Amino acid sequence: MIGDIDARGSVRKVLVLGGGSAGLLAGLTLKRMVPGLEVELVRSSEIGVIGVGEGTTALFPAHLFGELGIPKERFYREAEPTWKQGIRFLWGERGDYFYDFGFQYDAKFPGMERAAGYFCDEDCDDLNETCAMMRRGKVFLTGPLGRPLIRGEYAFHIENAKLVGCLESLAREAGVELAEDLLEGVETGENGVARLHFASGAVREADFYVDASGFRAELIGKALGEGFKSFEGGLFCDRAVVGGWERTDEPLQAYTVAETMDSGWCWKIEHEHYINRGYVYSSPFVSDDEALEEFLRCNPRVSSEPRVVRYRSGRRERSWVGNVVAIGNASGFVEPLEATALAQIIYASKWLSLMLREGGDERGRERYNDLMGKAWDEIRDFLAYHYKFNTLRDTAFWRHCREETSLGDFAGLYEMYREVGPGPELVTALPFHPNIYGIEGYLAHLVGMRVPYRVRGEVRAGDREMFERGRRRVRARVAAAVDSVEALAAIRSEGWRF
Ligand SMILES: Cc1cc2nc3c(=O)[nH]c(=O)nc-3n(C[C@H](O)[C@H](O)[C@H](O)COP(=O)(O)OP(=O)(O)OC[C@H]3O[C@@H](n4cnc5c(N)ncnc54)[C@H](O)[C@@H]3O)c2cc1C
Repeated sequence: MIGDIDARGSVRKVLVLGGGSAGLLAGLTLKRMVPGLEVELVRSSEIGVIGVGEGTTALFPAHLFGELGIPKERFYREAEPTWKQGIRFLWGERGDYFYDFGFQYDAKFPGMERAAGYFCDEDCDDLNETCAMMRRGKVFLTGPLGRPLIRGEYAFHIENAKLVGCLESLAREAGVELAEDLLEGVETGENGVARLHFASGAVREADFYVDASGFRAELIGKALGEGFKSFEGGLFCDRAVVGGWERTDEPLQAYTVAETMDSGWCWKIEHEHYINRGYVYSSPFVSDDEALEEFLRCNPRVSSEPRVVRYRSGRRERSWVGNVVAIGNASGFVEPLEATALAQIIYASKWLSLMLREGGDERGRERYNDLMGKAWDEIRDFLAYHYKFNTLRDTAFWRHCREETSLGDFAGLYEMYREVGPGPELVTALPFHPNIYGIEGYLAHLVGMRVPYRVRGEVRAGDREMFERGRRRVRARVAAAVDSVEALAAIRSEGWRF
């Protein structure tokens, strides 16, 4: 956790509009990282929260437990997360591969000259321990006493209502003042927002405002009119039908499933007592009724009333305008295929805290907007890779994706891959450094989907044998791994220490 450093600039009081996961994470992070700030958060239970957004990336536990110093015991008790080690893609020509938070295709087993990705034409399983565990329904390696080793790059599945409830109590305890009220009017001024008028009659004023009002974008969009950069030209899905059922005897898997559907894809998120499914689809290609019919056909156990969520893929031209920063869905949204929204909220909250600690001046604002813009655009392009090369189904939607998806700023990376395959020189084709996914993220999908490349080159004698030997060692190491049910029992047992 970062120590007691106060904001140096003129920002003393911040008002956060919105109490979904974005507003709460932003408020909590600001209060922890800039303790001298006065932070008030106002939200309306009449409007409520979006209620989706249940898969995290590995950044989430690292931020909560590392930077913010939230006690693990407390978080596990209140938010009741299950572990997510990655995503299982039922996708591409291969039809089934795993993507985790570590390295597979860009890595080498000891002694190998070439990266493992070169040897994955037939089989891409067991390239590292995490993926080998996911394949076998396991979640963590065990230590000498047979206890799970809960460490490394793991993420969570968390029910949205439980996450919001837990973040509320953490934020309150950290000193964030929480208020219930409905925003009715915004007075703007030279510097952006001057004051906010609420249904209760209260008028609230602050030096700085965080717009975390979700897709309504009350401050950045409605009041300040900041432009929206649409990604609809490259990412074609715009709706999701969401539903689920109470778990009975299904194994509790430590991964999200992303499964190809006729006009989009379907997630499966594993909570301890509930299985959540959502079909993300493209409304020009399928009606809501047809999507619902396909969703229920694939998920006959759905027992909750399915609901349709509409969204627009894209981002604000600038997330920080005057004295307003938009965080969460108010800032942008790039469909949930890689569960990136909570990670973006964390990046945004951290960068904002750092900029405010430095005074929150014009230079900081420009840096912030540049960083956030690049991050959103990279996620757009990363998702584009998923759509462009998925050959699993031959429907109008998928043909359109293959033909029309633009790879944006990351097109050069594919051009080079097409020539050289999973080689180290790919790093020179990255448009900027550092980027979010490195080379590994792109290779996971290119090799995972068996996207062809031209030059195979000589493979040094012995490399394949070392590759197979490495995979055998991986399999041996995961033989004693535990599954999620065993790991949950362990952390709830008497005497357990994180
Ligand atoms: C289909 C779908 C699936 C998703 N899956 C994932 C996922 O797996 N992983 C992930 O990280 N993200 C996912 N997301 C994104 C997810 O929505 C966000 O991560 C997250 O929930 C942030 O929401 P938010 O706080 O910005 O907005 P919301 O939850 O909508 O919160 C908005 C807040 O603003 C308040 N508010 C709005 N207007 C007013 C007003 N006038 N007055 C007072 N208060 C107001 C509301 O009451 C509420 O408290 C998904 C999104 C969609 C659409």
